[in-house]
Amino acid sequence: MAGVRPKDANPSIHARGSPVLITVNDLHRSTAEDASLILEALSRVVGAAWFALGPEVDAFEGEFAEFVGATDCVGVGNGTDALEIALRSVGVSEGSVVATVSNAGFYSTAACLAIRALPTYVDVLPETGGMDPAQLEAALAGGVDAVVVTHLYGEMGEIRAISQLCERAGVPLVEDCAQAVGAAVDGRPAGSWGAAAAFSFYPTKNLGALGDGGAVVSSDHGIAQLARELRQYGWTAKYHVERVGGRNSRLDALQAAVLRGRLTKLQPRNARRREIATAVARVASDRGVRTLFADGPQNVAHHCVLVVDDRDEVRRVLVEEGVGSDVHYPTPDHRQPVMANFSLSRPLPVTERLAASILSVPCYPELTDTEVEQVCGALEKALAGGHNR
Ligand SMILES: *Cc1c(COP(=O)(O)O)cnc(C)c1O
Repeated sequence: MAGVRPKDANPSIHARGSPVLITVNDLHRSTAEDASLILEALSRVVGAAWFALGPEVDAFEGEFAEFVGATDCVGVGNGTDALEIALRSVGVSEGSVVATVSNAGFYSTAACLAIRALPTYVDVLPETGGMDPAQLEAALAGGVDAVVVTHLYGEMGEIRAISQLCERAGVPLVEDCAQAVGAAVDGRPAGSWGAAAAFSFYPTKNLGALGDGGAVVSSDHGIAQLARELRQYGWTAKYHVERVGGRNSRLDALQAAVLRGRLTKLQPRNARRREIATAVARVASDRGVRTLFADGPQNVAHHCVLVVDDRDEVRRVLVEEGVGSDVHYPTPDHRQPVMANFSLSRPLPVTERLAASILSVPCYPELTDTEVEQVCGALEKALAGGHNR
């Protein structure tokens, strides 16, 4: 009955009596738009009767590696497994110290906890919510075995500085690209900057499957080979287990087949997301309200996030206007109940401040122009009270 609801896959009603007409996502639309692609994929996979890994997954891995500008792609069960497997594949093990951010939904922390590695949190930039290179530099000086950079909300703007810092320190960098598939800096895609990268194909991501899916990407054959072994029981050969930390986390052939079709539609869909976020950012900035969105190829607008003072009030007005919203994410990792015994090695003032004031508004490619206008109109009303910072 009242089970745990999957993240943001379902429409949300924020107040009784006020139906939210425009939700932060609506998977009916992309599913309907892609119906023939999906049925074709399904019939191909059923015809081949090969359901876990196999030729369809091989084909997707080749196409996705090329898209990301890496030599290797390893399809896995989900994005969190991808992070854990990527970390293990670059050498993280029990007791390793992993620098990461505390404002990115707990995924990198969950991967660390699974390995019994120790997260050390780095504060973020107030302009984007992404990792602050100066803070990373301080963390690296304290001794770090690996770094996870999350391209939060689809923005990867600081990757150049961050990858240089890691290179200079001789510390492997893992990119969390779950929100940034298709983004690029200097023509170099998200996922091609680190020693390895993790992707999620959870249905609401910019490149979504019909269920869970993920990938580890790397241009280091050794790292990719290790990831390939870890996703399948730690086998180095069939029924021969040699790797510590192996498990079963394979990408389904059906998901791979759907993802192959959707990959060809990703860039126009990302462009549409940018267009919507740009319209929202204009309304916000006209009212002195900041967004964490900056237009450009380095940003694929997975979420469109505003920074507001009186979040509850803004959300209340939005609901009145039929517009849903969400918070990505309300609780920093280090404040989660499961981290009660954890102590920070340095304060995270920007992380704390943003957690109290960020607000995500609808920004998915299938929104119509009329709906985008409605979102913008609702925001004009909601922000009229000067809920800005
Ligand atoms: C969604 C997401 C993940 C995890 O992906 P799953 O497939 O849900 O496990 C990891 N990192 C970020 C930033 C994400 O948004």
